[in-house]
Amino acid sequence: MTKIYLDNAATTPLRNEVVNTMIETLQNDFGNPSSTHSFGRSAKTIIETSRKTIAKYLGCQAQELLFTSSATEATNWILRSAVKDLGVAKIITSSIEHHATLYTIQSLEKEFNIEVVYIPILPNGTLDYMVLEKEIETSSVKTLVSLMHVNNETGVILNIEQVGTWCANSKVLFHCDTVQSIGKVSFDLQSIPVDFIVASAHKFHGPKGVGFAYIKKNIVLQPFIFGGEQEKGLRAGTEATHQIAGMAKALELAYIHLEHERSYITMLKEYALEKLKTNFPEVKVNGSDTFYNILNVLLPFSEEKTAFILFNLDIKGIAVSRGSACQSGSIKPSHVLEAFLSENDLKKPSLRISFSHYNTKEEIDLFIEALQVI
Ligand code: PLP
Repeated sequence: MTKIYLDNAATTPLRNEVVNTMIETLQNDFGNPSSTHSFGRSAKTIIETSRKTIAKYLGCQAQELLFTSSATEATNWILRSAVKDLGVAKIITSSIEHHATLYTIQSLEKEFNIEVVYIPILPNGTLDYMVLEKEIETSSVKTLVSLMHVNNETGVILNIEQVGTWCANSKVLFHCDTVQSIGKVSFDLQSIPVDFIVASAHKFHGPKGVGFAYIKKNIVLQPFIFGGEQEKGLRAGTEATHQIAGMAKALELAYIHLEHERSYITMLKEYALEKLKTNFPEVKVNGSDTFYNILNVLLPFSEEKTAFILFNLDIKGIAVSRGSACQSGSIKPSHVLEAFLSENDLKKPSLRISFSHYNTKEEIDLFIEALQVI
C-alpha cells in the first residue's frame, strides 16, 4: 500500500542530510560538552556552531538562543519566568493558542492569581485586532502578550510586526509561538519587535525532542530546570549534541531551499483546494488568508462520517488530521475550530491537510479519490 503523509503541521519527515549530520555527531562527538578535554570541547564546538548557524538565519545574536527539549518546554519556561521573575501580572492571549501556551497560562493563573484576557476570535478565524490594540494600549499593570504566529490547526497568520509594534509602544512583553513558521518564512529578529519566540526542530524536517527559545538581549529569565551550568545555567541538563546539530542543519537547509519549496508547496495547496472544490462543491475553508502549507477544510459530509473519516483514510494509508495531533481520534471538536465555527459546522468533519515539499500532485489525487468513497 502506498502511504501518503499529509500531516506536516503535526511533524515532518527528516531530511537525509539531517540524519547524516546526526549520525556523524553521534559517532564522532560523543563527549560531554561540559568536559574540558578535547572530546568535550569538540562537542561544545558543535553546539556553539549550531547556535551561530541558527542565529544567522534568524537575524539575532547567538547568545539570545537557548536550547530546550521542545517548544513546549520553551513556552512553559518563558511564561512562568515572566510571571514569577519579571513581575508580569496580566497575560493577553487567545483561546486558539496551542495547549502548550493555554495550559501553562491556566496553571499560572491559578498559582499566581494573574489576570488573563482572551482576545475574541472572528468568524474567519483571525483575532479581533481592534480589541487587541485597545487591550495592549490600556493595560496599566505589567503585561505580556502571548499569541502564536501561525495557527497549527487553521494556518491563520498573526500580523507579528503590528502586534509587536503595539507591544513595544506600550512597554508590553511579547511572546510569540513561531513553531509553525520558523523555517518556513524568513525572520529578521533584529527588526521584528518581539521579546520571546519558541521553535521546535521536528516541524522543519529536523529531529524531535529539541527546540529553542529566543530571549531578547537584556531580558533576564530565571531557570526552569535546575542543575548544571549548561546554557549559561539557565537550562540545566547535558546537551543533546546530535539533536542540536540536526536542528541547525535542518534550519539551514530550510532557509537555503525556502523560496523554491515555498512556491512548490503553495502550488500543491492550491491544487488540493481546486480539486476539493471540483469534487465537493460545498467544501468550505476554515480560516482566511491562511499559511501556505496548511489547509483546513469543512467537508459537506454527514455527521455519521465525522467520527470515522480519519480512521477510514488511515486504513487507506493516508495521514491527515482533524484538529491538532493530540486530539486526533477524539470526537471532541478542536478548541480552535470551536472558537469560530457554528455549532452546526462543528458537527461536520473538518480536516487539516498540511503539506511539505515531499508531497506530490499524485498523492493529492489519491487523497481526493479516497475521500470520494468514504
Ligand atoms: N506550538 C505549536 C503551534 C505547535 O504546533 C506545537 C506542536 O504541535 C507546539 C507548540 C509544541 O511543540 P513541541 O512538539 O516542540 O513541544
